[in-house]
Amino acid sequence: MLENQLLKIAQDFGSPVYVYDAEKIESQYKRLTNAFNSVKKLKINYAVKALSNISILKLFKSLGSGIDTVSIQEVQLGLAAGFSPDQIIFTPNGVSLDEIEEAAKLGVKINIDNLSILEQFGTKHPKVPVCIRINPHVMAGGNANISVGHIDSKFGISIHQIPHILRIVENTQMTINGIHMHTGSDILDIEVFLYASEILFETAKQFKNLDFIDFGSGFKVPYKAGDIETNIEELGKKLSSRFNAFCKEYGKDLTLAFEPGKFLVSESGSFLTKVNAVKQTTSTVFAQVDSGFNHLIRPMFYGSHHDIVNISNPKGRERFYTVVGYICETDTFGNNRRINEINEGDILCFKNAGAYCFSMASNYNSRFRPAEVLWHNNKAHVIRQRETFDDIIRNQVELDFSPKKKAVLTK
Ligand SMILES: *Cc1c(COP(=O)(O)O)cnc(C)c1O
Repeated sequence: MLENQLLKIAQDFGSPVYVYDAEKIESQYKRLTNAFNSVKKLKINYAVKALSNISILKLFKSLGSGIDTVSIQEVQLGLAAGFSPDQIIFTPNGVSLDEIEEAAKLGVKINIDNLSILEQFGTKHPKVPVCIRINPHVMAGGNANISVGHIDSKFGISIHQIPHILRIVENTQMTINGIHMHTGSDILDIEVFLYASEILFETAKQFKNLDFIDFGSGFKVPYKAGDIETNIEELGKKLSSRFNAFCKEYGKDLTLAFEPGKFLVSESGSFLTKVNAVKQTTSTVFAQVDSGFNHLIRPMFYGSHHDIVNISNPKGRERFYTVVGYICETDTFGNNRRINEINEGDILCFKNAGAYCFSMASNYNSRFRPAEVLWHNNKAHVIRQRETFDDIIRNQVELDFSPKKKAVLTK
């Protein structure tokens, strides 16, 4: 999307506002499917939690994607968006047996990552096939917060517990239809990923009724110039040929599944905010925008970098700014950033604002969550209205503490 198109959206719809470019989502989806085009059966299940707007889900449906869900509400959202149950996989962590049963009743694919739940579910519903989430104990990426394959991780069933899984399967006569892993959020090294895949193939051999192998996600996208990104094409070439060889050995054309979130939507997103004030202190120049970690928490939560561009003054002289929000807490979006000269009222654009941005937004400080706009076929479509005061007050229950009431009660 062009900067003047974004600027026009901020003018027309107000700020702060999230904008998503449908074309970018489509091109990322196609890039991924093209990279694996030598695999007979490929299934991309978009991870809903990255960006869960129903219109985004419908866009994915139109592309032929399935969805990966982590809560019963996401399952319901997927069904509301028109996905058939078999296009939905439920991959929760730490949820109750009740919630898994509710999802199974809706007919969606079930992915279980806990021996205790596997045993209980298999005992009660031996006829419902399930996928199992394996923890191959491979550390992908450097950030311990987002690496979920290592030994201390709460995710998945350890590969060292395969004998236990096999005993449960035998005792309950349940069917395992898929094997899954999701090692972390950043695949930087394809060899590491392929190594984890080998562990998955070894595991898969022990289950005779598989329909699919799900390699999770972790595709890294560039957040700033010079960032390493996952080489999807190389991964596609190497994993596809290994997968095809495995299917021959297994004696069946299995489905190769992935469940990316970030890769598909991160770069499509722009978050537009308005500069309320420019504040010079003895140490820095702050640009204070009409947002905070209530709308975009990644920089404060994960230390994530989002490029920040002044789209109101793209030719202005570059200066250094610390961009902060309006929340009554430290909410620094970016420290000492080189940005084209900022004037009060300018619109700053945060890049890579598609994944884990709006979906992690809150009402902290009793602020409204922003509007969302989808740029599709050269037109801006509102896909979520900005909240209003009604949204803030809706579920709150007002008690009456007036002295008059108290007098009546004590009479
Ligand atoms: C969050 C999540 C994903 C998506 O991860 P990205 O890094 O956004 O691609 C995939 N699978 C599972 C099980 C997840 O929890």
